[in-house]
Amino acid sequence: MFTVIEGLDGSGKSTQVQLLETELSEQGKTFLHIKLPDYESPSSALVNMYLAGEFGTNASDVNVYAASAFYAVDRFANYLTKWKQAYESGTDIIADRYTTSNAIYQLAKLPREQWDAYLSWLSDFEYGKMGIPQPDKVIYLDMPIDISQKLMSKRYAGDESKKDVHEKNILFLEQCREAAMYTASKWNWHIVSCVRQGALRSREEIHEEIMRIYQAR
Ligand code: ADP
Repeated sequence: MFTVIEGLDGSGKSTQVQLLETELSEQGKTFLHIKLPDYESPSSALVNMYLAGEFGTNASDVNVYAASAFYAVDRFANYLTKWKQAYESGTDIIADRYTTSNAIYQLAKLPREQWDAYLSWLSDFEYGKMGIPQPDKVIYLDMPIDISQKLMSKRYAGDESKKDVHEKNILFLEQCREAAMYTASKWNWHIVSCVRQGALRSREEIHEEIMRIYQAR
């Protein structure tokens, strides 16, 4: 079983992957956790240049298909060197971000009438032509932008300059959230809402919902 935890930055992915890992370890389950992009590896060089604004300080300045390819080749390299063997031998894989992130951040840069064509291209490019695995389950953490921005500002201790080209453009992030909702319905993602009646749900409550989705086979 290959599960992806998706969400915009600051939506709680790392927190939730960690809670999931702890619970699965306590149950004695074996699994492999991967986190993408692989910033430790030279395979993420172009992603880093893009996020640092070297191709344009607005994410929308950078060609969608080129930017998508930067992330795709990083995943390809990461798959071949770090988890292909485990995946093929049947180990459960949990990924923090994946191809599905292109279907949010890059999709959001395109006009609506091109969304379907982009999603078909993306799926064919990464899962078809490049041949990296397609996830069995995608769990999308839906966090309103104003809340994730506050959580991230805390993370960066008020230093807004630490945010990358995606993170600092609120309007763009709103478009990303819309793009995510669109892809979620087309690609059958499980949506976990991180707020209830305007208030942030606790990490544990969100975790319980994720655990239920994770375990349903
Ligand atoms: P991501 O990996 O999606 O960028 P993180 O897991 O790093 O997000 O979470 C962003 C910040 O929000 C962290 O400081 C984290 O501790 C905090 N956080 C995550 N989920 C919750 C929650 N449900 N309630 C309160 N704070 C949270």
